[in-house]
Amino acid sequence: MKPFRLLIALTALGIAAMTHATTPVLVIHGGAGVIKRDMSPAKEKAVRAAMSKALQDGYAQLKAGKPAIDAVTAAITVLEDDPNFNAGRGSVFTHDGKNEMDAAVMEGDSLSAGSVAGVHRVKNPILLARAVMEHSPHVMLIGDGAEAFAKEQGITLVDPSYFRTDERWQQWQKALKEDNEKKPHANQDTTKHFGTVGAVALDSAGHLAAGTSTGGMTDKRWGRVGDSPIIGAGTYANAKCAVSGTGWGEFYIRTVAAHEICMKVSMLDEPVPRATAEVINQEIPSMGGNGGAIALDADGNIAMPFNTDGMFRGWIGADGVPHVAIYDDEPDPSNHLGVPAAPSSTQ
Ligand code: ASP
Repeated sequence: MKPFRLLIALTALGIAAMTHATTPVLVIHGGAGVIKRDMSPAKEKAVRAAMSKALQDGYAQLKAGKPAIDAVTAAITVLEDDPNFNAGRGSVFTHDGKNEMDAAVMEGDSLSAGSVAGVHRVKNPILLARAVMEHSPHVMLIGDGAEAFAKEQGITLVDPSYFRTDERWQQWQKALKEDNEKKPHANQDTTKHFGTVGAVALDSAGHLAAGTSTGGMTDKRWGRVGDSPIIGAGTYANAKCAVSGTGWGEFYIRTVAAHEICMKVSMLDEPVPRATAEVINQEIPSMGGNGGAIALDADGNIAMPFNTDGMFRGWIGADGVPHVAIYDDEPDPSNHLGVPAAPSSTQ
């Protein structure tokens, strides 16, 4: 090739490389915990359908060139509106018989974040968390103040009865009975924290975002707040990594789990499946906690480990097809060789 042609070809390649759009990826979870295969076929079908719809709605945003945060909130609102998940409608009950919700979002490049805790009337807490990030000078708002801000922002408020489902009510009745038989708040098992929802996304500009929304743990008391709205614990994103966790929140707070995973990825250059599995399958169970997490890096690598019976999880990428998995023997992009496995004793 003549030198000037070579120069033109190299310049063209350089421009192509500079403008090369990242292939968008969206990963979601619908909670980790005791998920037995005796779930009714109708319920399993409904859960898988909701997960697929969340993936499709979120991915439509990414395909349209929208930022990762749009995909995260689009996916999470689908799951908040679905009564099968412990977020928005279908949230678990507190010890006082209320639905008290927490949510957070974070954008990786700017490290912008917003979160809300202890809200009772916000139809989609994830949208309020986003409004806190985008339209307030603060990161975290709680309770009545958060709801006053929601009203100012035109965020939909509903009567608290909207969140109630019979299934969650029955779970609460069972937990109350257990409380009466044992010491109060002694039995913090996985059945009490199941169905939280979360999403992490990578957009075509190469930016990451994360979000998590939950009703918390059944029978929680005294204004208990879990990890989901704590930036760094249940939700975190930076330029290289985005994480949403689900599990026994106290342990995620104490290990600052989502931030820990992202620091392993961004500071130690660990592959995201290894970093996530070290925290979820080693650190948290070694302290007596349990749960799972979804994580995504800026190259589109996915991790979704959990140390419980199952985790509702889904992903969608280059093929544009929503993939959903529930049980631990279903393949997912986390099934990489060489990452620490979950200890069997935590099942
Ligand atoms: N992590 C949530 C909490 O502790 C519950 C869950 O993820 O299931 O509030």
